[in-house]
Amino acid sequence: MIYGVDLMRELIKQPKSKFLKVQCFTCKNEQIIFNKASADVKCLVCGNILARATGGMSIIKSKILKVLS
Ligand SMILES: [Zn+2]
Repeated sequence: MIYGVDLMRELIKQPKSKFLKVQCFTCKNEQIIFNKASADVKCLVCGNILARATGGMSIIKSKILKVLS
């Protein structure tokens, strides 16, 4: 099982952690968020959730404009 998970990670080649430039679906506000935030990230303008926290990678609930390294 562990090997399978490691292989999946290899295939996806998911970067460790990144900052993302996203745009709110609701108000079109552009905001920089972290893709491994430990808490939900809300839009600073309208309060809409841009990214939902999970145990690891955040679930992005907004439009990703750019990935910043
Ligand atoms: Zn917004």
